[in-house]
Amino acid sequence: MNNGKVTHGKCTLVGAGPGDPELLTLKALKAIQRATVLFVDDLVSDEIVAYAQRTARIVLVGKRGGCKSTPQAFIEKLMIMAAREGENVVRLKGGDPFIFGRGGEEVEHLQAAGLEVEVVNGITAGLAAVTSLGVPLTHRQHAHGVVFVTGHARPGDTGTDWRALADTAYKARLTLVIYMGVSGAGRIQNELLTGLPATTPVAVIQNASLPTQRHITTTLGALADAIHAGGLASPAIIVVGDVIRSVALAAAHPAAVRAA
Ligand code: SAH
Repeated sequence: MNNGKVTHGKCTLVGAGPGDPELLTLKALKAIQRATVLFVDDLVSDEIVAYAQRTARIVLVGKRGGCKSTPQAFIEKLMIMAAREGENVVRLKGGDPFIFGRGGEEVEHLQAAGLEVEVVNGITAGLAAVTSLGVPLTHRQHAHGVVFVTGHARPGDTGTDWRALADTAYKARLTLVIYMGVSGAGRIQNELLTGLPATTPVAVIQNASLPTQRHITTTLGALADAIHAGGLASPAIIVVGDVIRSVALAAAHPAAVRAA
């Protein structure tokens, strides 16, 4: 991925998956074990960081690192410096680096600084969350496709067009997998109700794949109230669509027992 340019060091963006270390890919594990410096995001679990060499330098760049969270430009500057010093740099990100992880921006900036960048996929939270309920994201009877969408808009950005999305999801029979949607759930619910029935099934899954996982199932018409009543908070995935009806199928699935 260096576009044939002269490079001054290399860095690997590694998807750490949703939290459960067993959901790491072998490629991710090997990259973590090779790293001499790791820049670690908030949502990456300690057990995964523990796979790094004992001598590796661990830089926590999320809220755990100290202050609110390290500014993106500063993280990139540190990564560039470390790579130029010949370190084996790994940037460990939750889920998949290219799903709402700002991985795209990071790759552009690192390449512009002359670094060679490799990206290792991880299992994205939306995928793991739904599977943990024993529910498929697509199903020939319930959904012809799936949309991964963010519930969080950048400041000054109008964000997702929920009305258009509701219309399309209804007509095309798509499952909606909403990241970062819990705090805006009331607004998302109201907008989606313009195109989807109030009876549309919804699941909200918090801390997917971790021992602390909890979930609720509800309907679109009751979404915000159910989140409030269930006390669910970030990090959570909201899944909207008829596939959630098959949660009944999942009753025998062990993860469902951990439900709220
Ligand atoms: N790159 C990540 C997403 C980063 S955005 C990925 O591919 O998964 C952060 C959002 O991801 C959170 O607000 C939440 O919506 C979701 N998320 C991350 N980990 C999660 C988990 N273990 N359980 C539920 N949602 C999670």
